[in-house]
Order: sequence, then C-alpha cells, then structure tokens
Amino acid sequence: MAIWTAVTVTAQIELEDVVGSFLIDQGAPGLETTQRGTSVQLTGHFPSPANIDELRRFCDTIVDLFPGASRPSIECTELNDSDWGENWKDHFSPLALGRRLFVHPPWIETIPAGRVGIEIDPGMAFGTGHHASTRGCLCLLEQAFDEHPPVRVLDIGTGSGILAIAAAKLGAAETWAVEIDPEACQIAAENVRINGVASAVCVGASLEDAPGSFDVILANLFAFQLIDLAPRIASRLNPNGVAIGSGVLADEADDVRAAWSAAGLAPHGVYEEDGWVTLAFQAGPSPAASVSCQDVHRDS
Ligand code: SAH
Repeated sequence: MAIWTAVTVTAQIELEDVVGSFLIDQGAPGLETTQRGTSVQLTGHFPSPANIDELRRFCDTIVDLFPGASRPSIECTELNDSDWGENWKDHFSPLALGRRLFVHPPWIETIPAGRVGIEIDPGMAFGTGHHASTRGCLCLLEQAFDEHPPVRVLDIGTGSGILAIAAAKLGAAETWAVEIDPEACQIAAENVRINGVASAVCVGASLEDAPGSFDVILANLFAFQLIDLAPRIASRLNPNGVAIGSGVLADEADDVRAAWSAAGLAPHGVYEEDGWVTLAFQAGPSPAASVSCQDVHRDS
C-alpha cells in the first residue's frame, strides 16, 4: 500500500513563494525545489491519500489572483515505504561548485578530477549545498582562498558542517564550527569525521567556544542575526580578514550592508542566486592603527 504521495507542482517562477507556502500549509514537512528556466518545480511529500482536490482548487484561484499567470500543473506519484527510502535520495544530487568544490552524498563516490570532494549525509541538519545561500558562501569562500588562503576560519551556524568542512578541505589549518542546535551539532561532528578533517575542525555550541580571531568568518543565518552580530564578527576578524554573510533576501541586503559597514568592514564581494544574497566584507589592513597613535601620544 502506498504510504506517501509525492506531489510536484510546476509553476512560473514568480509563483514559487505562494505555491511553496501552500504546500507547507497543507502539511508537507519540507520541499524540494528545482528551477527549470522560467518555471520552478516544487515537490512535497504527503501521507497518502493527499488532499489533491484542495490543491487543484488552489491552482485554479491562483490564475485569478495573479493576472497573466498560467495555471500551475500538478503531478502525483504514490510511493510505498521502500520507494521512499530511495526516492528522497534523488533530491540530493552531487553539485560541482565554483572551480574546485564538489559536494556529494555518501552514495556518490567518484569525485571529478581537480575538485575537492565534500561528503554530506543530509540527515536532519541544514546544509546540503542545494540552497542558494550555502552555495553563495562556498563560492565566496573559494574566492577568499584564491586571494589569500586563510589559516583560521570560523563558521557560525554550521548546520551539517558543510562550510567548515569545505574550509578545512581547501586548506585552512584550524576551523571552528559553532552550532546552537545540539542535534545539528552532532550531525556536523559526524560529517567532519566522515570527511577526515577532524584534526582541522573543532565543533562547538556557541561563538564563545571559539577562541581568538579569524582570517575568514562565515555566517549563513538570518539577516537580523547578521545585523545583531556585526560588531562581534568585526571584532573577531584579523586584519584584512573576510566576513561572509548569507541567508539574506534581496530586499534585506542593504540593511546588512549598512550594519557591517557601521562595524568598520568594507564591501568586498557579492553572490546572488534565486533572490538570495551572500555578502563578503573585509576588515581594514590594521585595526591596531589607533593603538599605535596612542602609543605615539604616550611616548611624547
Ligand atoms: N552553514 C550551513 C547551515 C546554515 S543554516 C549552510 O551554510 O548551509 C543556519 C544554522 O545556524 C542552523 O543550523 C541554526 O541552528 C544555526 N544557528 C542559528 N543561530 C545561531 C547562533 N546564534 N549561533 C550558532 N548557530 C546558530
């Protein structure tokens, strides 16, 4: 007997948010999103039988609410328990990112030549590389390595550990991965171990656990958190260090830019995808400049 129904709605890209919210409201525990040109496919899994009539009515009303929009199409697939076990894996396809990175699930073992493999067992923590905010962090992290390879890296909100593992595999000697959710913390530690970087990555529960200052600080959180954390992030950056902030929607980006500038950081790079913005900001060459002025003053 089928125990799950996979419902896939194909809609114009402008309707992604409204269709996605509807599927979540209807009880889908999460969504897989695939962009295809100007349309998007959203798949949610529902316990069978799914309430398809409700979804059909919703698709009819969308055409009235969004003039000019075409009616989304709906496709349902019944899955039994054993299908489910294999089927969800289809949504964690491997990803080649930037010039050097390759994020892959455990069941994909071949790494393309010239790329660094990052094995992520999806589990229940955020960070498979399938979200634009994670991809933005990875691409700007790779850029930071191209410019000036960092020695110490901090990843605030590590989730699956993906960014910290990438930093270690790209060559950072010491990376701190902090995560407030204890379950995600355990998953991160396990992924760090699987990737063979346990000697280069320390997993902790909060920012206070990570000592010292860093050449790169990654924070894929929410915009309001990046704004709150701006002074603490700036105070933990080494001279010329780079802070990479993500989880920011396009219309929130200017507020984050303002907060990070006010904290003394300067714009350094940006990555935009799917309406998500990732920002790179850089610390000045020498935060100790004012200290040396005081020294001169004291000596005179
Ligand atoms: N770094 C991963 C996961 C980002 S999701 C990636 O880029 O894909 C954000 C994570 O930050 C969540 O796992 C959440 O539990 C964690 N988090 C939120 N606020 C935090 C805080 N103040 N300190 C540490 N972790 C935090």
